[in-house]
Amino acid sequence: MKIVMLGAPGAGKGTQAKMIAAGYGLPHVSTGDIFRANVKGGTPLGMEAKAYMDKGKLVPDELTVRILLDRVAQDDCKNGYVLDGFPRTIPQAEVLDAELSKMGEKIDFAIDVEVPDENIIRRMSGRRACVNCGATYHIVHIPPKKEGICDACGSELILRDDDKEETVKNRLEIYHKQTQPLIDFYNNKGVLKEVDGTKDSAAVFEDIKKILG
Ligand code: AMP
Repeated sequence: MKIVMLGAPGAGKGTQAKMIAAGYGLPHVSTGDIFRANVKGGTPLGMEAKAYMDKGKLVPDELTVRILLDRVAQDDCKNGYVLDGFPRTIPQAEVLDAELSKMGEKIDFAIDVEVPDENIIRRMSGRRACVNCGATYHIVHIPPKKEGICDACGSELILRDDDKEETVKNRLEIYHKQTQPLIDFYNNKGVLKEVDGTKDSAAVFEDIKKILG
């Protein structure tokens, strides 16, 4: 089963992607995580991506597509995957679609996690990410056991640059311009499913399970 997660940054699609991955035994493929790992490792890819990420801009399609296709060609993706944060533009979706068609495959579900912008701005300011392992929390909705400390590895939690208010507004603007057309793209393919992302994460996951079966 191949799943694409859609929704604005901060809509909770990453949380749902991880829940789907765990519940259905599929790898969770996040281009944002791949970029962040490269930034942290100081690789040439990371250095190139960082300049865009810090400003809340999208990394160019050519680079992003290359990274994604490499990742889904790996063995653990043979039986499917959950894509989180990819595709973000129509050209990215078209390349993925063309690559899958070559193998007689397709995206089975595009799940759009719907949340109004005002809720997102409020939510994002409460997000915290681990400086070491990248695990994410929310001071209200998913608090760590000990304030400011990662449950998974014990490192410090911070408000990521790309979760700050100005950056969030910038990302929402980009989302509406470049990513929302993907909703029509997958709707035209008959695989779009919408869920109400304003509910708590367990309730959203219940709705998703009804869709995936
Ligand atoms: P995310 O964690 O998915 O919100 O991604 C963090 C940042 O990585 C984004 O703001 C972009 O700068 C970059 N990024 C992640 N995925 C993509 C993508 N599919 N296309 C372009 N840029 C991306």
